[in-house]
Amino acid sequence: MGTDRRIRILSDRVANQIAAGEVVERPASVVKELVENSLDAGARSVRVELRNGGKTFILVADDGEGMSRPDALLALDRHATSKIRTAEDLQGVSSFGFRGEALPSIAAVSRFELETAPVDGGPATRIRVTGGRIVSTDEIARRPGTTVTVRSLFQNVPARAKFLRAAGAETRAASEAILLLALSNLRTAFHLESNGRELLSLPPAEDPASRVADIWGTDEAGHLLELDVEIDGLRVGGLIQRPDAARLTGGRRYLFVNGRPFRDRALVRAVDDAYRTTVAPGLRPTFILYLRLGGERVDVNVHPAKAEVRFSDPGRVYQAVVEAVRARLGAVSSAPGLGPDRASRVAESRPGEPDPSGEGEAPPQLAFFVSRAGEGAPGDETPVEGTESPPLGAVGRAVRPHAWQLHDAYILVSTRDGLLIVDQHSAHERVLFEEIMEKFQGSGAESQRLLFPLTLRLAPAEFTAVEELGGLFRAVGFEVEAFGDRTVIVHAAPNPHPYFDAEGCFRDMVAELTHGSDLVNSARNQHERIAKSMACKGAIKAGQPLSRAEMEELVDRLFATELPGHDVHGRPTILRLTMEELARRFGRS
Ligand code: ADP
Ligand code: MG
Repeated sequence: MGTDRRIRILSDRVANQIAAGEVVERPASVVKELVENSLDAGARSVRVELRNGGKTFILVADDGEGMSRPDALLALDRHATSKIRTAEDLQGVSSFGFRGEALPSIAAVSRFELETAPVDGGPATRIRVTGGRIVSTDEIARRPGTTVTVRSLFQNVPARAKFLRAAGAETRAASEAILLLALSNLRTAFHLESNGRELLSLPPAEDPASRVADIWGTDEAGHLLELDVEIDGLRVGGLIQRPDAARLTGGRRYLFVNGRPFRDRALVRAVDDAYRTTVAPGLRPTFILYLRLGGERVDVNVHPAKAEVRFSDPGRVYQAVVEAVRARLGAVSSAPGLGPDRASRVAESRPGEPDPSGEGEAPPQLAFFVSRAGEGAPGDETPVEGTESPPLGAVGRAVRPHAWQLHDAYILVSTRDGLLIVDQHSAHERVLFEEIMEKFQGSGAESQRLLFPLTLRLAPAEFTAVEELGGLFRAVGFEVEAFGDRTVIVHAAPNPHPYFDAEGCFRDMVAELTHGSDLVNSARNQHERIAKSMACKGAIKAGQPLSRAEMEELVDRLFATELPGHDVHGRPTILRLTMEELARRFGRS
């Protein structure tokens, strides 16, 4: 001391302890780093054992490529990595690790043991490290692969040990870390044991849906829709939840980019945005999305635990995610099916484009049965394309007219691959909602002057609401004049269908918009509020008999919407019964 030199280079041990502060936050981060190493080593199977939430004991064993003795010793040095050589290699790096920090950091804050044997049959090694100092190096016998054991984590760093949570919470965090990796490494088997109890046992999986089924059960997997589209060189694949199955809590939301889990609030918002009007706001649909894009378009080296990434063009990624999810929700196969729930696929190359394999379902080919001898319904004279499938056609003809409306509430539609059951009210709601939202952009809805204007006396709060919303009522087709003394005159009304009850609809809307309802409270803005209310109150009701032409028109207009399978309450408009399921039920397959 006493010299003019106060700056010193830290010893490796101290540097490692400092690095450990960033990389090794808690037992779960140790588990994550070790399992990532196993995956980088090409493991087909990874086994993790925890005791006391990992605070006293963590073991990660793999059957990966293992290490030679010199490599094993080197691996414990700071910045020792086999995964990159130059800074350029960082771009598009596909391994989980690349900083060479995890092993020395973990070894600096625990009693650490590494056992490893290389696949080439070389000798196996065991290295023991305590508080960052190698205490023994032995030759042992073991099969190829690596086992790392971490005992007494943070015992030599009491400040850190104090912040660890109860064992249960640490176990949950560790198992969540494993789940993330299991969802992105389908071909690898994973086992997790905590205090001798098995928590996870995942065999290698063929696809994301079967991994999800192994993790959370087939029920959960059954509510998921598979998607896989490419937009702008960005591939968006994975699973999203059917809107009608979405719940307020418990939604599982995972993002991966080029095989790597990451967090991104904006992209979560993108997914929620895509679900708009198919689920009530606040619901948290499950999604597991795998993004793939060129390595030069994403920087994975921006976060100490690599939990976040930076896209070179976040706006386009956002847009692509919205588009991909939206398109999947717009496909008919996103409506629930009758039969055992299985993750439902759709073969789509790109949203909007017809499926080149010919197996896709958008747009659905309707196979209505032509009513020949004028049933008298207005507009019925336009014959619809007959079915292309002879067996179904034969059945169809044997059926009496109106046979296709069930209890004046459901419309049965034969399609190329089975039967759709359409809820006429929900379907019309979706149609009206989208049409009204579109008209807000344009000139507003058409309306009809009433021969006898309606004079209505309203409750005070309702009268005020009508005064406030006057312009918007006009935009949906109601021309309303506030007359004073809580009285309004309706001069013109929209005409969404021939059975429309203008007065009933207007009164219901006024009540709903004044007092609120789950539906209108879920709207984002006044336009959406009034469109939802009008759609719900103005749609054809259950119990309304429809002519065949009317049914056909309704179904045609439904399929012209962006999201035909879902109404504005978060319910399905359609149930699907596939030929496959029918064959199964009749014991034909
Ligand atoms: P990084 O993963 O960033 O390279 P680590 O400190 O996690 O840094 O690991 C250092 C090196 O040790 C790795 O690059 C790899 O060569 C080797 N290694 C670590 N774990 C394993 C394992 N389970 N199997 C084979 N090699 C491993
Ligand atoms: Mg690593």
